Amino acid sequence: MNNENLLKEVISQFDFVGEVIQIRPYGSGHINDTYLVEFKIKHMGVVPIILQRMNTNIFKNPVQLMENILNVTTFLRKKIIQYGGDPERETLTVILNKNGKPYCQDSEGHYWRGYHFITGATSYDEVKTDEDFYQSGLAFGKFQSLLSDFPAHTLYETIPDFHNTRARLEVFKKAVEEDIINRAKDVQKEIQFILQREELANKLISMQENQELPLRVTHNDTKLNNILIDDKTHQGLCIIDLDTVMPGLAVNDFGDSIRFGASTALEDEKDLSKVQCDMHLFEVYTKGFIQGCQGQLTLAEMQALPLGALVMTFECGMRFLTDYLQGDTYFKIQYSTHNLDRCRTQLKLVADMEKKWNEMNYIVEKYIS
Ligand code: ADP
Ligand code: MG
Ligand code: MG
Repeated sequence: MNNENLLKEVISQFDFVGEVIQIRPYGSGHINDTYLVEFKIKHMGVVPIILQRMNTNIFKNPVQLMENILNVTTFLRKKIIQYGGDPERETLTVILNKNGKPYCQDSEGHYWRGYHFITGATSYDEVKTDEDFYQSGLAFGKFQSLLSDFPAHTLYETIPDFHNTRARLEVFKKAVEEDIINRAKDVQKEIQFILQREELANKLISMQENQELPLRVTHNDTKLNNILIDDKTHQGLCIIDLDTVMPGLAVNDFGDSIRFGASTALEDEKDLSKVQCDMHLFEVYTKGFIQGCQGQLTLAEMQALPLGALVMTFECGMRFLTDYLQGDTYFKIQYSTHNLDRCRTQLKLVADMEKKWNEMNYIVEKYIS
């Protein structure tokens, strides 16, 4: 069946009123297929909604995933009403189908979901100015603040061990040992770099186990284009793309944002002299994030922010090298050494952060007090 007919089939599973006047692909997301559907409703005019075909190649358990999203957004909605905000624009609103479910399936077995369309806001693909990066930190910090009393342990871990760096280290070691395509000999320097820092893989996990760091709701895809920015105020309005919302550590979200957002080069830059962790960008994001958290993170969490950046970058470098050693089965590559190049930028960033460690901690302390 073509997409148009599948969409109509899906639409009929909801209690929508009015007549469909337009359906078109929307946004620039790479994971799900997103459509804007417009209804003409008597006395109300045109009402837009978002329909998304979920990517079940990546997300194997769409039912649990939607339960997570429904729980988190219902909680956010109450919080936003409490502080006098606009729940229609400041969080996603999941549309339930005729059976009261937060998803539906078409006749080909694809999973779909509907959201209220958030008007007067835009998601931007690129960080163009420091202000964008600051707004991004502020928005993800606020997300932490609003969800600080959400019982994170009730969420499904839709991708088990996603940031279990210790488990990832074990997978890495196995990949080195098995060396199935005989690449280990060419990447000894990188392998040694990781093995010399083995203890990094344990740091956050042990802090979590010792309850030094509390379990939080984490977003796990903290790109700028997962924030809707208000067209009028130019401030972060709503965090979207909640597919990877899971229990985790707040410092992981922060760390991943720094890993890709404060780097001076692209993830696959070949000229490593161009790759650094920019301390100005680090400061801009840190400032936004800590302000956005509005005192809802513990002191230990805030002090562990630099560690979050270091460990997330280390983890990512290790994952790229693992994939390279395993024959590039996970990350899409454009050329044979793509994963190796990616690994090298991450390890260069780790080395750079180690050099700038005192400065990173000094910046964090500045915004804590
Ligand atoms: P992906 O996982 O593919 O990135 P997203 O959930 O991020 O999917 O959605 C893709 C794009 O669709 C977003 O970047 C945003 O521009 C737009 N979008 C998604 N949900 C809404 C919504 N409720 N209101 C307005 N725009 C939305
Ligand atoms: Mg997205
Ligand atoms: Mg996504």
